Amino acid sequence: MSDIDTSRRTFVVGAGLATAAAGASPALAQEAANAVGAPTTPAAAAYPKPPFPPQRQPWPGLASKMTPRPDHGETSYKGSGKLTGKRALITGGDSGIGRAAAIAYAREGADVAINYLPAEEPDAREVIALIRAEGRRAVAIPGDLRDEGFCRKLVEQAARELGGLDILVNNAARQQTKPAIADISSADFDATMKTNVYAPFWLTKAAVARMTAGAVIVNTSSEQASDPSEDLVDYALTRAAVLNFTKSMAKQLVSKGIRVNAVAPGPFWTPLQVSGGATQEKLQAFGSTSPMGRPGQPAEIAALFVAAADPSLSYSTGQVFGSTGGGGQPA
Ligand code: NAD
Ligand code: MG
Repeated sequence: MSDIDTSRRTFVVGAGLATAAAGASPALAQEAANAVGAPTTPAAAAYPKPPFPPQRQPWPGLASKMTPRPDHGETSYKGSGKLTGKRALITGGDSGIGRAAAIAYAREGADVAINYLPAEEPDAREVIALIRAEGRRAVAIPGDLRDEGFCRKLVEQAARELGGLDILVNNAARQQTKPAIADISSADFDATMKTNVYAPFWLTKAAVARMTAGAVIVNTSSEQASDPSEDLVDYALTRAAVLNFTKSMAKQLVSKGIRVNAVAPGPFWTPLQVSGGATQEKLQAFGSTSPMGRPGQPAEIAALFVAAADPSLSYSTGQVFGSTGGGGQPA
């Protein structure tokens, strides 16, 4: 038998989902069933594949209410001291990709502050407990990043409570599917820009004022930066903006010894997708268009956030670290 056992857990997960997704269209279910890559690791063999059960949460959604629950590396991520003594602020650290980064950073020896919206307190509490379980300092700072004053205070408070700031991870984002440009109101457009572009700008400005040589800024971009979906017009352009911002700031901050890198995910199973980020049709087939035929789990990208901030990669700045299941990588 191969060291990758696809038999039992995959069957159990798959059977449950197939039943729950009975409402999915036969064409979608067929597409999903066809597009399944061979497992790349024993852990990946157990990761869920489409079709997924229909589900909808109000924005911003909770990981704890998703079916199946995402794997953020809670029981699997193993650290090796790569970020010992570092102090990190992670926006959107309550769930999804940001939570996976928070768990990984704590297990690599960092103290971690997370920001999230007040409605996400239940998810945030789980992350705070996981960071403390590693013996690391955990700071919870809820608040809305669309407010410049709050962004400034967030950086101040994180630096004060952590005793300094070595790593800023600009990861929070707003994504809402809209079929046509006529459906994107100015208020929608503004909320997406404020969350996804202004906030990283405000936070970076405040963080750079406190950072010293050796510090790192990590921005979350997306494959959407160069291959935008027709229904994610406002969101996709922000992922391109963040990628561009990463490259200009990397050059600007070389003189200060501060590095700036980006991580670009493909489709990942997170609350963003079940709280308005995807249509029900896309959600049920989520990940089926990636060559691996399934979405990534947040646990599968955490190590790239570690790499993006790892002091041993001291020549890497302005870089884009990708994880797309074989799909396009923004340049
Ligand atoms: P997620 O829902 O778990 O995380 C997004 C977080 O953004 C939320 O948890 C919330 O705390 C935060 N947020 C949103 N609006 C906010 C506001 N106004 N104030 C404060 N916080 C706010 O989803 P995720 O998929 O893990 O998203 C994390 C990052 O990954 C985003 O930058 C997203 O663009 C990127 N990304 C995700 C995917 C994917 O398929 N899930 C693909 C490519 C890129
Ligand atoms: Mg969340």
